[in-house]
Amino acid sequence: MAEKKSYKDLNTAVWEAGTCSGCGACVAVCPADALYFIDEPGISHPTSSGYCKMATDLVPCGACYDACPRTREQKRETLGSYHRLLRAQSIVTVPHQQSGGAVTAILTAAMQEGLIDGVVTLTEDRWTHRPRSILITSGGELVEHAGSRYNWSVPVLRSLKTAIVDKKLTHIAIVGTPCVVQGARAMKDSKNDLLIPFGRSIRLIIGLFCTESFDYHVLMEDILKRSGLAPQQIEKMDVKGKLDLTLTDGTTSTLSLDEVAKAVRQGCHTCGDFSALDADIAAGSVGTPAGYTTLIVRTTDGDGFVDNAVKAGVLSVTTEVETGIIEKLAAAKQKRLD
Ligand SMILES: Cc1cc2nc3c(=O)[nH]c(=O)nc-3n(C[C@H](O)[C@H](O)[C@H](O)COP(=O)(O)OP(=O)(O)OC[C@H]3O[C@@H](n4cnc5c(N)ncnc54)[C@H](O)[C@@H]3O)c2cc1C
Ligand code: SF4
Ligand code: SF4
Repeated sequence: MAEKKSYKDLNTAVWEAGTCSGCGACVAVCPADALYFIDEPGISHPTSSGYCKMATDLVPCGACYDACPRTREQKRETLGSYHRLLRAQSIVTVPHQQSGGAVTAILTAAMQEGLIDGVVTLTEDRWTHRPRSILITSGGELVEHAGSRYNWSVPVLRSLKTAIVDKKLTHIAIVGTPCVVQGARAMKDSKNDLLIPFGRSIRLIIGLFCTESFDYHVLMEDILKRSGLAPQQIEKMDVKGKLDLTLTDGTTSTLSLDEVAKAVRQGCHTCGDFSALDADIAAGSVGTPAGYTTLIVRTTDGDGFVDNAVKAGVLSVTTEVETGIIEKLAAAKQKRLD
């Protein structure tokens, strides 16, 4: 059996190397609750309380290292392997939907059918846009928390520990950017005894296409503030080659990616996965017209959840997807691995 590694190895291989994505997989699985993020501007990786089962008490653990997506080689694929490419749209109204509301429709139908008992994802305070990791356990809440969060200030997967250890949920869906997806997949694939309960409880992994995410404090409290924008004036954010802001008074404002470059999180600069290659279902806006979600259904589990939503009458799908733009963005992002 491979030798187990401690947070000290994670510190050397990932934190000090500047490749931490902030996914929070290590925070969620640490059995000693010893890893955490300090919520301050420019924080790029977790901190340890100093106690570690392995490093302090010589008890074999290795959970943090084994769950981390940055301790292994990243895949070099663009579209990746898939069963179906779909143009999808929620049939029920999802007021805050980002694209076609398909992610919310799939999750809501799954919860109604009892296929999942919780969803771990990222939500935000709609006034401050401050994000937080959340465990959702009802369909109504899912609709309330629809929409994309481009801000980061907390480990997304932190609520997975609440779901599994505190609430004893066993059929969990995870929604996240590709780095979060990789962390969740690492838990599912791991032979580490401490990760097996996590892997066994994850039933569905939905990935969101991603070019980068932004440090909340740097974007909101520095860049947007200097542009004269307060968080409560922002209704919706969207990134498609630029940062588009829809304001609460109905007007729009745009910042170039150069203007927001210093808010991009450090770990995003070495991330090569655009299309959530390890997800059961990947979802994005490019590849289909406004008002639709592009779905890349990669696994048999993914097929089952999409079919369930269509059968429940909450999701409509067709097969018209323009793959060229997805491949182009994915190939450009992959160059960060060179
Ligand atoms: C940081 C980021 C960057 C993105 N970049 C691109 C891009 O470059 N090109 C592109 O085509 N698409 C991108 N997307 C995906 C796109 O914005 C939509 O999320 C996707 O099309 C699904 O839309 P929907 O209407 O079906 O989702 P909805 O029905 O609105 O549901 C969205 C779901 O995602 C969850 N969620 C939102 N933000 C996060 C987050 N940061 N972490 C974890 N869960 C979250 C919500 O809780 C909700 O469950 C990005 C998303 C994010 C979060
Ligand atoms: S990439 Fe995720 S698992 Fe790895 S150190 Fe960073 S937060 Fe922890
Ligand atoms: S680019 Fe997206 S997927 Fe990659 S580390 Fe940043 S947030 Fe995660």
